[in-house]
Amino acid sequence: MPEPFDRHQLQPLLDRIAAAAPRHFGEGEVADYIPALAEVAPDQFGIAVCDINGKVWRAGAADTAFSIQSISKVLNLVIAMQRLDEPDIWTRVGREPSGHAFNSMAQLEEEKGVPRNPFINAGAVLVCELLVSRIMSIHWMMREQARRLAGNPAINFDDRVARSEMDHKARNAALAYLMKAYGNLHSEVNDVLDVYFHGCALAMSCSDVARAFAFLANGGVNPQDGQAVVTPQQTRQLNALLLTCGLYDAAGDFAWRVGLPGKSGVGGGIVAIVPGQMSICVWSPRLDSYGNSVAGLRALESLVEGLGVAPLG
Ligand code: GLU
Repeated sequence: MPEPFDRHQLQPLLDRIAAAAPRHFGEGEVADYIPALAEVAPDQFGIAVCDINGKVWRAGAADTAFSIQSISKVLNLVIAMQRLDEPDIWTRVGREPSGHAFNSMAQLEEEKGVPRNPFINAGAVLVCELLVSRIMSIHWMMREQARRLAGNPAINFDDRVARSEMDHKARNAALAYLMKAYGNLHSEVNDVLDVYFHGCALAMSCSDVARAFAFLANGGVNPQDGQAVVTPQQTRQLNALLLTCGLYDAAGDFAWRVGLPGKSGVGGGIVAIVPGQMSICVWSPRLDSYGNSVAGLRALESLVEGLGVAPLG
């Protein structure tokens, strides 16, 4: 097998990317619809890469914890895929790109309470209902999974962020009630949202997230401990979903510009997977109008170009 990328080139490249990131400081806005996120200093940047042996390279504020927000939707779906039968998930939520904003109500109404995919808010809330209705200790399990995957026992929920989201839950609650009205959600809405908001409020650094997602570059096996997280087939399925649905209504543009499966969060993090090679996490809090990190996107473009990684050919 050919050497997939030049390891000696990686650290200088990450350093160059981190040094160039401040050029984009000032572009975009932090997510202020969640007040606790609006308090984050906007002009920060971190990047980390984890290869399939678990080795991590980092630059900038790669060890600063941030709110992973929607990146947690992937981790929750992984728990669902580990524990539930396929029809229990995929009769309740679709697998198609939405082409609509991450928190849109319109499509959910038109499609009678069945969310397009598990990575828009409605779909992620639905996945949380699947979990909360079956797993007593779901909060504990979510935190343990993040700790185990990242190999960092200090990972925790940022309770202030979770509370802030609950205090400003109106739109996510509306999505949940709409699904309830259509008979696709059965649990108490607040119980479901509490799980969803706690996942979003997991505080992890770029190094943590890159390590935690390395299993998706490694056929489903976590390089930290050699444990299978999901099967090789589920790994392909998750990467396919990330490529088509991971960046909301900018998924097509992300595939065009970066060409990797990825997931963004309104905390400013983006995780991306180079199958068979590495997982990458970038973080910078200012977002574009789609809710994706401006400097993070630029950094991923530079990294992919600099390393010449191109899984799509
Ligand atoms: N907690 C955020 C929300 O529900 C997550 C959105 C995101 O990160 O894209 O609005």
